[in-house]
Amino acid sequence: MLTIGAHMSIAGGIARAAKHTAAMEANTMQIFSRNPRGSNYRTYEQEEIRIFQDIRNRYSFGPLLAHAPYTMNLASANEKTYEFACMVIREDLVRMEALEIENLVFHPGSHTGIGVEAGIENIISGLNQAVTESQNITVLLETMSGKGTEIGASFEELKAIRDGVRYPEKIGVCLDTCHVFAAGYDIAHDLDGVLEEFDRVLGLPLLRAVHLNDSMMPFGSRKDRHAAAGEGEIGLDALLGVITHPKLKELPFYLETPFDEEGHRKEIAMLRGKLGIRKDEKEWER
Ligand code: FE
Ligand code: FE
Ligand code: ZN
Repeated sequence: MLTIGAHMSIAGGIARAAKHTAAMEANTMQIFSRNPRGSNYRTYEQEEIRIFQDIRNRYSFGPLLAHAPYTMNLASANEKTYEFACMVIREDLVRMEALEIENLVFHPGSHTGIGVEAGIENIISGLNQAVTESQNITVLLETMSGKGTEIGASFEELKAIRDGVRYPEKIGVCLDTCHVFAAGYDIAHDLDGVLEEFDRVLGLPLLRAVHLNDSMMPFGSRKDRHAAAGEGEIGLDALLGVITHPKLKELPFYLETPFDEEGHRKEIAMLRGKLGIRKDEKEWER
């Protein structure tokens, strides 16, 4: 079974996002854990949560993914920025766990001049004050394109973060196809090689989710611009190769392509259609 969905707006609440996911014939979704560019969040009413859980169970959604706000920079040396980031990850882990969301993904952060090592130390301390031994939700580090002073463009940096924390078993990885391609991992021509590298450095079992995006920017550009599947430098065949790869096909895939809900519905239908056309009974039995 292919588990695929899109990043959904929570402007109308979480029940609405789940309802629209089902209407799109998707079976998972990503939502922001709070306002992505600010700091506020809405507390969902019990009735809304009940409807959300009901839809997700009725339609057998796969693992759900919450995305931390972009304003959260755990690598920052600026005290205010850092304290804010610590508070956000602490609160949102509790809030998302209460909704029984399986994973919370965040951008490791930008060191803004203090260097990669110092940035990673900050990220580790920030995670240690938020992650608990008893939590069920897993924290996913997102692979980044490496723009500016961004940490997480190499598998080694993600490994250093995970190895440094108190509860590494609570930390996994979310692979963003656009970001790794821009960072210099050639998933378009050598997906097997990239996965071998991931396995060697981090271990493939740590890979829990995939952000399925094409890239507007060329290979190794270290620029982060998402394109619709098949309309970028990665290309449709390579993205279909990601969805169907024996080592990836059981993972949940989340589209973060520049579309509204109707566009994402069509994109998912298009991907399913292509998979149907390429169907080979032995290879495609899921
Ligand atoms: Fe992201
Ligand atoms: Fe992403
Ligand atoms: Zn991106």
